[in-house]
Amino acid sequence: MNLLLLGPPGAGKGTQAALISKKYSIPHISTGEILRNCIKNGSELGKKAKAYVESGHLVPDEIVVQMVKERISKSDCEGGFILDGFPRNYKQAEELTVCLKELGKEIDSALNFDASEGVIIERLTGRRICSKCETIFHIKNMPPKVDGICDKCGGKLIQRKDDEEETIRNRLKVYRESAQPLLDYYQKKGLLFTIPADKDYREVEKLLKDYFKV
Ligand code: AMP
Repeated sequence: MNLLLLGPPGAGKGTQAALISKKYSIPHISTGEILRNCIKNGSELGKKAKAYVESGHLVPDEIVVQMVKERISKSDCEGGFILDGFPRNYKQAEELTVCLKELGKEIDSALNFDASEGVIIERLTGRRICSKCETIFHIKNMPPKVDGICDKCGGKLIQRKDDEEETIRNRLKVYRESAQPLLDYYQKKGLLFTIPADKDYREVEKLLKDYFKV
């Protein structure tokens, strides 16, 4: 099963991707997470991406496309994968189709997480992630068992730099500017399914199970 999770930041893609990944034992590939790790490690790619990521702008297509090509060519993606946060625009979608064709693969579904701006801001400002393993928490909706500590690995929970309100607004603006052509691209291919993502994550999980068998 090769899945794309589309939608604005804070729509719950990362949370559902982690659940689907666990259920089907297929990798959850978050381009944002890969970029944040590159920045943390101070790699060349990280140095190039840092200013874009921290200000909420898109990293140039050629960098991200190459990164995804390398990742989905790995053997752990043979049984399927979940792409979270990629593609982000029409150009990336086209490049992905070409790359998958070369690998003899195709996308099964593109799930469009549709969430309203108020819910997104509330989710992102309350979001905390593990500084080690990137597991997602929320101070109200999905709190850790021990305040400030990751349930999974004991790492310290932090707020992402780009989860501050001003950067969130910029990320939403960037999303709105590039989303429609991307959604149209998958709609035309008959692969787009819209998920009402304002609901609590447990309800969204159930909906995905019932309707999309994921
Ligand atoms: P995310 O974790 O998906 O919210 O992504 C965090 C940040 O990483 C974004 O605001 C962008 O700066 C960068 N990023 C992630 N995915 C992409 C992508 N497909 N294209 C360009 N930039 C990306």
